Amino acid sequence: MVPLSYVSRMRAGDPHDPLLRQVLPIAAEQLPMAGWTTDPVGDLASKAGQGVLQKYNGRVLMILTGACAIHCRYCFRRHYPYADESAGPREWASAVESIAADKSIEEVILSGGDPLVLDDVLLAEFLAAIEPIKHLKRLRIHTRLPIVIPDRATDALAQLIDSGRLTKLLVLHANHANELTGDARLAIEKLANTNAMLLNQAVLLRGVNDSLAAQRTLCQRLVELRVMPYYLHQLDRVTGAAHFETPLAKGLDIVRRLRAELPGYMVPRYVQEIAGEPNKRVLA
Ligand SMILES: *Cc1c(COP(=O)(O)O)cnc(C)c1O
Ligand code: SF4
Repeated sequence: MVPLSYVSRMRAGDPHDPLLRQVLPIAAEQLPMAGWTTDPVGDLASKAGQGVLQKYNGRVLMILTGACAIHCRYCFRRHYPYADESAGPREWASAVESIAADKSIEEVILSGGDPLVLDDVLLAEFLAAIEPIKHLKRLRIHTRLPIVIPDRATDALAQLIDSGRLTKLLVLHANHANELTGDARLAIEKLANTNAMLLNQAVLLRGVNDSLAAQRTLCQRLVELRVMPYYLHQLDRVTGAAHFETPLAKGLDIVRRLRAELPGYMVPRYVQEIAGEPNKRVLA
């Protein structure tokens, strides 16, 4: 279930390994927890069409596939009904039409699932479908694939990213510096050599990266690879993930210390998504 490349970056025989903890199912997930739900960020209420979510001004999020290369145990879309709610190649035409009809939309965000699970032919078809929409300026791709299956970062993918008129942003998802080693480094270097802007989002996870040292090293390594730390997310309260929660006070302390130690661009915004708010809430 877990890609070999990702496993190779774990410390063998260490049950506390920060990469292992992100993917290992444990008994605590089964404990019922009041306040933890299957749709913690109100995704289903923000549905703007099949596979399309709109919560924020000027941006729509599209789910082209529900598939991921890995199953992160803390994933806030763990229980999302992907089978009914994604816009695959057969459904995306109507989503593209609705984007074309709404001039306020400047940015399409491909999220997931992991959009890079789609092959380059399908991605190129999607790009060709949205390129003609004149009011679109940017395409953003949220992906964890370069981290979990670095081989996905092919030369053909890099060329695709460089093609067309839209400004591209790639938002990676690495939570720990140990994820940014070996072939993952090479994959990120290849993507950093495209025209895309590279950002990273991480989730604050107890027992994985809930320390000043872990966050500092993550931020430093990202910038070394020319990836800007964008968001550090407070965990969304999704059923089965309660054992990963880090108290807000601890998160605030870590981020304030990071800010005192590191250059401004190296420190992510610590954010939390509150259903119904016009933007992700910046905590620090
Ligand atoms: C997080 C999110 C975005 C992107 O928000 P930014 O603050 O621009 O990164 C867009 N749409 C949805 C539905 C989201 O959950
Ligand atoms: S890669 Fe992202 S969407 Fe996929 S399981 Fe992990 S957190 Fe969820």
